[in-house]
Amino acid sequence: MKLIILAAPGAGKGTQAELLSKHFNIPTISTGAILRKNISEGTELGEIAGKYINDGKLIPDDVMIKVVEERLLESDCKNGFILDGFPRTIAQAEALENSHIKIDAVLTIEVPDEKIIERLGGRLECKNCGSTYHKLYRAPKTEGVCDNCGGKLETRADDKPETVKERLATYHEQTEPLKKFYADRNMLRVAHGREEIADTTAEVIKALQQC
Ligand code: AMP
Repeated sequence: MKLIILAAPGAGKGTQAELLSKHFNIPTISTGAILRKNISEGTELGEIAGKYINDGKLIPDDVMIKVVEERLLESDCKNGFILDGFPRTIAQAEALENSHIKIDAVLTIEVPDEKIIERLGGRLECKNCGSTYHKLYRAPKTEGVCDNCGGKLETRADDKPETVKERLATYHEQTEPLKKFYADRNMLRVAHGREEIADTTAEVIKALQQC
């Protein structure tokens, strides 16, 4: 299964990607997580990315395309992968198409903007492994501690209200047109994000059964 998850920030793509990754036993490639790791390690890529992420803007296409092309060549992607956060622009989608990697489906998770703003307010992320939690909807067993690895949970720097608004605007302007791009290629599958994570997963599985 080679799958793209296309959704607004905070729509639950990371959470659903994690669950699907376990279900299909394939890795999730989260471009946001790759960038945050590079920022915390102070790499050259991290230095470039930091400037854009903190303003809720997208990292330039040529940089992102190179990052993803290199990652998809790694051996764990041989039997499939889930792309979480890529492509985010038509140029990125065209680059992926030109690389001749055959994508099976593109899943979109629809959530209204008001819900997203409410959700991102309570989101937490593990500094160590990148797992995501929510203070109300997906609380960790021990407050502030990751269930998976015991790492420290923190609020993402780009989840502050001004940046969230900018990220949503960027999504509608630059990423949402990808729905038509993939619908035209008969690859788009639509799921609706629900209040409960398990209900969203049921929608996602139903949408993917059409593959
Ligand atoms: P995410 O964790 O997917 O919400 O990504 C966090 C941030 O990383 C985004 O708001 C962008 O600034 C940047 N980013 C992640 N993926 C991409 C991409 N494919 N193209 C450009 N910027 C990206």
